[in-house]
Amino acid sequence: MPPYCHNVKREQFLKKRLTTEQRKILTDHSALYNRLPEDLKTKLEGLMHVFLHEVDFEVDGFSEVTEEMRICVAAEACVLILTRGYDSYSQLRRVCIYKKLVRKNKKIAGSANRYEVKLDWHSCLQGMRWGADNHNVILHEFAHVLDQADDAEAQSIPVAVDSIADRRKWKEVIAREYPKIKAAQVYSLVHTIDKYALTSNAEFFSCATESFFERSKELRQYNPEIYELLQDYYGLDPLQWEEAKSQRDSQLTFIKTFGPLLFLLLVTAAILILGMYDYISTGGILCCFAPVLSILLYIWWTLNVPTSDSR
Ligand SMILES: [Zn+2]
Repeated sequence: MPPYCHNVKREQFLKKRLTTEQRKILTDHSALYNRLPEDLKTKLEGLMHVFLHEVDFEVDGFSEVTEEMRICVAAEACVLILTRGYDSYSQLRRVCIYKKLVRKNKKIAGSANRYEVKLDWHSCLQGMRWGADNHNVILHEFAHVLDQADDAEAQSIPVAVDSIADRRKWKEVIAREYPKIKAAQVYSLVHTIDKYALTSNAEFFSCATESFFERSKELRQYNPEIYELLQDYYGLDPLQWEEAKSQRDSQLTFIKTFGPLLFLLLVTAAILILGMYDYISTGGILCCFAPVLSILLYIWWTLNVPTSDSR
């Protein structure tokens, strides 16, 4: 297809939106999607349509590619290109999802080059579900794709070959940070970026990407240089999403907690006022209060029962 037609087609896909069912798949599975602000979710949906149109999905060990697999992988992969645009994945052709991904007799979570990504589905589900454990194989493998997109080299320098100043900056930051991760491993100390980053030069960028989205606060606090480098590269600030989300959560908790109580107080006041003006007898008031008290008791009980896992 000529480049012009190709771009027109992409422009059309970028305007498309997900269905309610597709959004539900994401809200059910992806902690990262649930953290995204609404404007970025809208942008993500368009990029996902381009991705789903241009990338082939295959499975190994499963009978078919499911909608859940396509939507989840496309969403997490496209978070990385929310502001960079689809060109970063132009060379990507195939995603293969395995029931059990093995390399050299060892089970692995994923692998990637700029044309193809292989993913172990169980690891994908775990990575998406736990949004703050520093492990997300989909983000990790697609960061490898970005790293190799420009120069086919997996060396944790994802910026363009001709951007000399940017490349120098990346090299300098990596040269300063790598020894810190190594020291943390040697002395059994904690570093925000997983020690898997030490496996090879290629792993630093992928592991740092996982931390950027899943441990934003710690990375910003303890490794601000890396955070800023990734913030510039991705054009995103996930720390802001966490703050916005926690504000939304506290507002919702307030409404959920005090909304029903306020309603019951109003009902109680109305019953008492009707009683004062002899519209209701004492027996009537007691009858009215019985269900009100039961509901209050129920609310107190639900508020005090500990909730299970919060995603
Ligand atoms: Zn890797």
